[in-house]
Amino acid sequence: MKKTLKEQDPLVYKMIKGEEKRQEEGLELIPSEIAASNAVIEALGSVFTNKYSEGYSGKRYYGGQEFADSIETLAIDRAKKLFGVPHVNVQPYSGSPANFAVYTAICEPGDKVMGQSLPDGGHLTHGWKASATSKFFDITQYHVDDEGYLDLEEIETLAKEHKPKMIWVGATAYVREFPFEELSKIADKVGAYLIADIAHIAGLIIGGVHKSPVEYVHVITTTTHKTLRGPRGGMIMVTEKGLKKDKDLAKKIDRAIFPGLQGGPHDHQTAAIAVTLGEAMEPEFTEYAKQVVKNAKVLAEELKRRGIKLVSNGTDNHMLLIDCGFGRGTFLSDALEEVGITLNKNTIPKDESSPFYPSGVRLGTPFVTVRKMKEPEMEKIAEWIYRVTQEIEKYKFPQIKDYRGKVLKKFKEELMKNEELKNIRKEVKELCKKFPLYK
Ligand SMILES: *Cc1c(COP(=O)(O)O)cnc(C)c1O
Repeated sequence: MKKTLKEQDPLVYKMIKGEEKRQEEGLELIPSEIAASNAVIEALGSVFTNKYSEGYSGKRYYGGQEFADSIETLAIDRAKKLFGVPHVNVQPYSGSPANFAVYTAICEPGDKVMGQSLPDGGHLTHGWKASATSKFFDITQYHVDDEGYLDLEEIETLAKEHKPKMIWVGATAYVREFPFEELSKIADKVGAYLIADIAHIAGLIIGGVHKSPVEYVHVITTTTHKTLRGPRGGMIMVTEKGLKKDKDLAKKIDRAIFPGLQGGPHDHQTAAIAVTLGEAMEPEFTEYAKQVVKNAKVLAEELKRRGIKLVSNGTDNHMLLIDCGFGRGTFLSDALEEVGITLNKNTIPKDESSPFYPSGVRLGTPFVTVRKMKEPEMEKIAEWIYRVTQEIEKYKFPQIKDYRGKVLKKFKEELMKNEELKNIRKEVKELCKKFPLYK
């Protein structure tokens, strides 16, 4: 007999419902998160999850591929058209494996690679010391300048000195537009492959509110679950410029994913990516992308007006970084969580604290924009954030490590009792009710 999840496993059902309610009643400001559409979630929960399809369309190792082949081909065709690239691989399980596949397609172990340093906004997979990428490749990291822009002079000097095989451009905590053209000149001078990791900004590129790297780079990687608004997943694209540099590059990328790094693709994920790319072709998607950036700029202005310090003093994209002072990112993220505003603590450039107790928080507008929130709501959010900062102003983060546990414990106890935070929590809930998510 067919049973629903609720009947079969009420415990898991309850957890899912709890998460649904949390998302519905709170403001999700983590800039890497978004609410996928019902159609995307339906495709993700489809019977394609039952299928094994190792290989590529028309060249599979198992039978029964009639529909798996057509769904993968559809996703690829839509991606090619949207981004304007000649080759796409939609099989990466997520952004990190997509990036690792690019390393193995282009480099030999020990080859030199350059990427943006993590405290400067770069992603772990661009060679940070805690990432496996730094174990297998010889990494040089570049930085941002005092204004929070990529330091092109430093990048050029490092590139000439180290002659890397590959240079990454892309980041996870960077509020400015990427200078793809300028970087391509540097990469070309030293003969390096330039790889754009557009995980955060893919949706903005399609919406025309961030310039596209297609003309300037050899390979593009992305996640599908950030501003692109799809299921968790990844894609790798090869550009005309990439094929000109190496006519076998597309084949190398495909082989790096399968059989190099992965087994069977997640066909249910591929189906959901196809739906996502279909949505991204609609005019509403451009409207959404424009609003994401508009909202971020308003949020930035409203925060600044209230005396809150932003890294790079503003934003060009969907994301902002607040400079909270030494080690104080945790205070603000914990206090905001108490009022139903979710964002993440984050290191900031030249952070003197540690990644576990960083000095900043990172926030963004994709999720709330999908809920149809606009400028007036951004002003409300800025005011709530400001009011929360007022409540926690007196807490200083101890320089001395031994004191930290005690200070944080006391901080959390006092948060729970704070009446002003309780009031804000109610106001946040009221606003969320007016902007339903899945109802
Ligand atoms: C999120 C992100 C990734 C990694 O994606 P996962 O799906 O979390 O593995 C890679 N690069 C950048 C720039 C990202 O922002």
